[in-house]
Amino acid sequence: MSLTNFSNSTGVKKPLVAKNITELIGNTPLVKINKLPPGIRCSIYAKLEYFNPGFSVKDRIALNMIVDAERRGILTPGKTIIEPTSGNTGIGLAMICASKGYPLILVMPESMSIERRKVLLHFGARFVLTPGEQGMRGAISRVQAMLKNSSELVFLGQFTNPANTEIHRLTTAEEIWQAFHGAPQEQVYVNGDLWSEDGVFEENFGPHEVSSIGIRDSEEELMPQSDTIDILVAGVGTGGTISGVGSILKRRNEKIKIFAVEPSESPVLSGGSAGAHNIQGIGAGFVPEILQRDMIDEVLTVSSGEAILHSRKLALEEGILCGISSGAAYCAALEVARRREFQGKNMVVIFPDLGERYISTELFSIN
Ligand code: PMP
Repeated sequence: MSLTNFSNSTGVKKPLVAKNITELIGNTPLVKINKLPPGIRCSIYAKLEYFNPGFSVKDRIALNMIVDAERRGILTPGKTIIEPTSGNTGIGLAMICASKGYPLILVMPESMSIERRKVLLHFGARFVLTPGEQGMRGAISRVQAMLKNSSELVFLGQFTNPANTEIHRLTTAEEIWQAFHGAPQEQVYVNGDLWSEDGVFEENFGPHEVSSIGIRDSEEELMPQSDTIDILVAGVGTGGTISGVGSILKRRNEKIKIFAVEPSESPVLSGGSAGAHNIQGIGAGFVPEILQRDMIDEVLTVSSGEAILHSRKLALEEGILCGISSGAAYCAALEVARRREFQGKNMVVIFPDLGERYISTELFSIN
């Protein structure tokens, strides 16, 4: 199949003129990965979540948790949002709080990188810093203590809040599903000839003249292409993305395979123990409450080093400036795509954020 224009095929486009920044969240594009290693006959499409206005997938949940709290009457004008986070959720919340006018306090370990702190300050968020050696656990217990002493604070709780998973069911999953099902049929080429849907050769192109629209150079490479999404690969942080997207995809087609990715240094979902790693955003070190494990077919582990290598590869070979967890997801995706059973299938891999968020990290250290 040909997914030539994902944004149009979803039927829902970003507005050309938005009423405010939150209207520009979601409807992110899929892009085909072109330079696959030899032997892979599975089509891989990356869902580029850095097309969100805060440059990550977490804009979606930040907005939905706030809107949900407003709907439930917990969040009203004058109240302050508080959340223990050092990552993309903090940036998404800071962006939306600035737009909606809510004060925001982010509680995080003092070890958090200076570039993140500066972005958050730039959006007007305030910080409470907790001892670095206590990690996120220290930040969570400080929030709990602060909540006991104030009725003006509203805690959203991304690891336990069903509004996290909900937005992925309503938007991320729907965008992926509609990109495939709303798309036109692929034009199939056999030995350089365009083969129409009713089986008649229509035109005779030289192979290289039509290479820009997907010609395969030899018959051996012409695998039967699936016309639906067959495989989803996503890293697990809170588990919101994989649970929300996976549940909708499985409900619509139970044959779709769902692969979760976690750091090999902290293989908690695979039954191992928590450990330090450099894949920010995944591998929380515990099994998140909202993670729906029943729809995951297999958990794959990727080391921080492999994740970084694959993230660099995506920038160098595909021009995709993604973060480290995208590299981890891509590395795992290649392992799955090599399997015989997945030849000719379509795979979607979630790329959660933008590479520029990691300039001070190892991702950018060799150049
Ligand atoms: N990668 C990055 C960079 C993230 O910020 C997150 C969110 N924590 C994830 C992956 C995983 O997403 P989720 O929390 O939905 O599992």
